[in-house]
Amino acid sequence: MSASPDFRYKIEFDPLTDIGPRPSTQLADLISKHPKLKIYTSSSPHFQGMKAIWNLEYAPNEPLALVRVTAPSEVSTVIKFCVTNNLPLAVRSGGHDLWGRSLIDGAVILDIRELNQIVLAEDQKSITIGGGTQTGDVVNFLDGHGLVTPCTLASVTGHLGWAFSGGFGPLVNAFGLGVDQIINAKIVTADGEMQEDDSELLWGIKGAGGAFGVITEAKFKTYPLPKMLGGMLIFKFDEAENILSDVQKLLDEENVPAQLSIGCHFSKRGGAPTLTMMFSWASVDFEEGKKWLDKVKSLGTVMMDMVSEITMKKWCDIIAPMLPQASYNSSRSFFISKLSAEAAKILLTASTKVPESLQWGIGTFFIGGEAIKPQPTSSFVLRERFVFLHALAPVPEKKQLTESIEWTNDILNQMKDEGLVKANYLAIMGHDLSVQECFGEENFERLKALKWKVDPGNVFKHVPAQFT
Ligand SMILES: Cc1cc2nc3c(=O)[nH]c(=O)nc-3n(C[C@H](O)[C@H](O)[C@H](O)COP(=O)(O)OP(=O)(O)OC[C@H]3O[C@@H](n4cnc5c(N)ncnc54)[C@H](O)[C@@H]3O)c2cc1C
Repeated sequence: MSASPDFRYKIEFDPLTDIGPRPSTQLADLISKHPKLKIYTSSSPHFQGMKAIWNLEYAPNEPLALVRVTAPSEVSTVIKFCVTNNLPLAVRSGGHDLWGRSLIDGAVILDIRELNQIVLAEDQKSITIGGGTQTGDVVNFLDGHGLVTPCTLASVTGHLGWAFSGGFGPLVNAFGLGVDQIINAKIVTADGEMQEDDSELLWGIKGAGGAFGVITEAKFKTYPLPKMLGGMLIFKFDEAENILSDVQKLLDEENVPAQLSIGCHFSKRGGAPTLTMMFSWASVDFEEGKKWLDKVKSLGTVMMDMVSEITMKKWCDIIAPMLPQASYNSSRSFFISKLSAEAAKILLTASTKVPESLQWGIGTFFIGGEAIKPQPTSSFVLRERFVFLHALAPVPEKKQLTESIEWTNDILNQMKDEGLVKANYLAIMGHDLSVQECFGEENFERLKALKWKVDPGNVFKHVPAQFT
């Protein structure tokens, strides 16, 4: 038996079985006028595999069809068809949206995973990638050239989906947020036209992403970094309160180099709460990096030290098996100014309440350096030191969802009650929270005006950035 296909790459298309003998009449025009378009309906043997997404709650959704585009002109065709025929449209890249926005009941799903070309510029200072390229493919490609671009350690996500709304990961202090790496982009808007040189549109998608159209390709900055220091440090949980306060003090020092990135992760392993520190040093100056590693290790009792000289690819490979598989989801993500004593107390108490056997956790990343330099070309708003906080409580069964929602909501509400929340993180926050609180009033109003100018019919509504 052959292995199941990897839907990231080219898959077979046979109109007889993939479109099937009795496609919906709603698709008739698309099928007859565009015989080369790869349209997969529920009769296709690939349909169930192709429509799989990370959030199990929305996985049963039945779209009208998945259209696997292979060129920007096909993106335009599908958009025009949906607009003319008043059919709902959604875009599917890495499928890791935490709220299932890439798989909508009854919609035409523009599956852009085959738009995954990667081209390195001659000067090696940038790569141009297709709109559906997965982060892992970007990391692997750059690794072969001794290069990196900021990315998430969760390399299974779509790279543009990750970068649009901020884009957090271990290299952002050294080189800037994911969103700051985008030099230019090609975007097909609701009128089916390709836009390339509109600086206001670029400003908009660098923060609010797919609300304005489908990005078919984008150019990202790259940096030489053949090796770095990276890995986990597991500390004694009893000392966590002091350790967290001391980490914040250490990072408050004015001369902390941008190459240093620290994330603290709280979870329960084997029934016991743990404090894992994610240490990254984005430079080949290992002598200096090890000095900082020693400073961090001296903050408490290290139970396990897994930091070593690695590549970014290796760092992602280490994390890959620990990532939560497709799940029911109740994530919350927001930004706070500091890991203050009040904030640390909320997080530590929450981590003791994680039910045994469940992989719930709270990730924090201390953001500074290049990531907080003012960037007028991007609509992402926070440009002063802050902590990115991500409470992730995935559950394998729907009946466990209420409990996980209570746990993540409790963390958010306590932080709000203490007045600690500075802004929401658009990609992960949850659709019940305020989009305005992601951008601040000024940027929100500017984005809103842009949205209604570029997409007056709200064709691209199944996206995190809502302006209604
Ligand atoms: C397990 C896990 C770990 C994560 N870790 C991190 C992390 O470390 N740091 C961080 O910042 N975020 C993280 N995220 C958030 C993740 O990056 C976002 O959810 C991201 O939007 C997922 O993109 P995708 O392409 O995989 O998802 P999809 O579900 O395919 O798409 C998400 C949204 O983006 C739109 N979209 C995607 N690509 C395009 C495009 N080219 N043009 C137009 N619209 C597009 C889709 O329409 C949809 O609305 C994590 C998510 C998960 C599930």
